[in-house]
Amino acid sequence: MSFQNPVFIPGPTNIPEKLRKACDMPTIDHRSPLFGSILHPARAGVAKVLKTKAAEIFIFPASGTGGWETALTNTLSSGDKILAARNGMFSHRWIDMCERHGLDVEIVETPWGQGIPADRYDEILTADRGHQIKAVLATHNETATGVKSDITAIRKALDAADHPALLFVDGVSSIGSMDFRMDEWGVDVAVTGSQKGFMLPAGLAIVGFSPKAMDAVSSAGLPRTFFDVRDMQAGYANNAYPYTPSVGLMNGLNEACTMLLNEGLENVFARHTRIANGVRAAVDAWGLELCAASPDLYSDTVSAIRTPEGFNATEIVTHAAETYGVAFGVGLGEVAGKVFRIGHLGSLTDVMALSGLATAEMCMADLGLDIKLGSGVAVAQEFYRTKPALTHLDAA
Ligand SMILES: *Cc1c(COP(=O)(O)O)cnc(C)c1O
Repeated sequence: MSFQNPVFIPGPTNIPEKLRKACDMPTIDHRSPLFGSILHPARAGVAKVLKTKAAEIFIFPASGTGGWETALTNTLSSGDKILAARNGMFSHRWIDMCERHGLDVEIVETPWGQGIPADRYDEILTADRGHQIKAVLATHNETATGVKSDITAIRKALDAADHPALLFVDGVSSIGSMDFRMDEWGVDVAVTGSQKGFMLPAGLAIVGFSPKAMDAVSSAGLPRTFFDVRDMQAGYANNAYPYTPSVGLMNGLNEACTMLLNEGLENVFARHTRIANGVRAAVDAWGLELCAASPDLYSDTVSAIRTPEGFNATEIVTHAAETYGVAFGVGLGEVAGKVFRIGHLGSLTDVMALSGLATAEMCMADLGLDIKLGSGVAVAQEFYRTKPALTHLDAA
């Protein structure tokens, strides 16, 4: 790997210079008011990025996986029934976590490459007249397959069935990069991490709890200590933490929110859509297909690209790392060896995206695939040239 090259994995993402500097801090006393001057603006910034006025924001020294655990253990009890679709590795892992916590998961098995079937959620919720289902899980952007799901359709399914279950959304690879509206969509727990849309190193689990989710905390029976939001809340009230916070990362988070909000969230989303469209145009020019089954499902943060039958897609990733010092994402789980992934989220420009496409072409040509050098790059160039970026992230 070369530190000169950007990474094209769908997280951790490239860290802007400004954020590296913001994370690099001298030690401060995390029980002093100075810490409060980092903590509270960071939480306020996250609330804006989540588009919530109602939610409580909690920031744990953990990763996105810790955010999943925060959602479950603070609101549910052993044996509670959960509804979840499995359509990729990340939804699979969250389901696995539910099962390990003794929750009873009704799994909607969904082909990898498809989105969450809201119509199945609707049927199941409507049939659940006794309201046994306590929470509905939704992975907004399945990072393994590059598939986005429609959270509003799931909210509608809950409302149509007049069902009181909590709605938990994994937005780890969408929040801060793709449209996300916690309050408007009626999300009860939103989960993300520091190392994707927020462009920071891994190390923070970031969650938002709606008032309804907060109401569930006192009666939830699952054991929790590290991830107990009540301890966090009590700490925050005193400018403090129940244990030692990652101060530097939180200072970075504060700055990351400022960068995103200065660019304007709608502009950030438009930039991601535009860059993704250029990548998708290149994939099409290569004669390859995305794992995502239809355009409405295309993720603006990661593309999982199917390689021809009989070819091991992981070779592209290995070859790119060894030969060109560039990181792409491997296929995971059911699609291991069948897809490679180009991450296109976070701190990225057209020019950076073009370098990734050019590298992918060199790798595929080196490995004997029928790819004409420059074919994908040319259509992406044409796309970026005629649809120039309206805004840029102020990364310096
Ligand atoms: C990366 C990711 C996670 C896991 O986050 P970690 O920070 O690795 O624990 C969960 N869900 C999705 C959709 C992800 O992309």
